[in-house]
Amino acid sequence: MEVIRLPALSDNYIFLLHDAGNSRAAVVDPAQAGPVIKCLEAIKAELVAIFNTHHHGDHVGGNLDLMARFPDLTVYGGREDKGRIPGQSVFLEQGSRLNFALRTIEVIFVPGHTRAHIAYYFPPTDTGVGELFCGDTLFSGGCGRLFEGTPAQMLDSLGKLKALPDETRVWCAHEYTLKNLHFALTVEPDNLALEQYYTRAKSDRSLDLPTIPSSIGLEKQINPFLRSDQPTIQKSVNSTDAVQVLGRLRGKRDVF
Ligand code: ZN
Ligand code: FE
Repeated sequence: MEVIRLPALSDNYIFLLHDAGNSRAAVVDPAQAGPVIKCLEAIKAELVAIFNTHHHGDHVGGNLDLMARFPDLTVYGGREDKGRIPGQSVFLEQGSRLNFALRTIEVIFVPGHTRAHIAYYFPPTDTGVGELFCGDTLFSGGCGRLFEGTPAQMLDSLGKLKALPDETRVWCAHEYTLKNLHFALTVEPDNLALEQYYTRAKSDRSLDLPTIPSSIGLEKQINPFLRSDQPTIQKSVNSTDAVQVLGRLRGKRDVF
């Protein structure tokens, strides 16, 4: 299975999963139908599934147009998103299992950004690493804004993702990395790995290269929202309580 990254809107990524052997494809969070259809034509594949992480317009905006074009496709989303995702017919929860392109998919319930948010995790195979499609839960250097969830929920959700193997590729739904790292340096200025990654990300972005995918191993080293146990970060928000640290970090990031 090949993952094709399609930039959409101002800073979204749509991920097209290509099962070349069967000329089939699935798409994660189609913000728009246009770029997806263009790519499908180029690779000559039929779209059979939409995997939505949550109901926000910049993740489901292309659903209905894609359904009109591919009447047999199935729209997957979280159980709690019932009624909020256009065309959804499969309702997933923590531990739900699916298959695509000879790969297993495990659904991880990750409320926080929204109350219904799910992530799609493809465990590693003999020949390849794991793949995580986490929508607006984990970003490189950051996490999603808390629209419908609490800091405790987001901490718990991020904990589930943090427990995945270090090599797991993390396909975040937005290119927010530079701003996240700029913020991260204000709360953990003594993190050398963070400083080095910021330098690399700045140079990549100046060449218009994506910073996504990241990896769980990298995020554990540089993402303040996964590092609430670090004394420097705790000091920056005047708390040693993990939930409070996450809530205060997110609050600071909201106004950064
Ligand atoms: Zn969102
Ligand atoms: Fe989004």
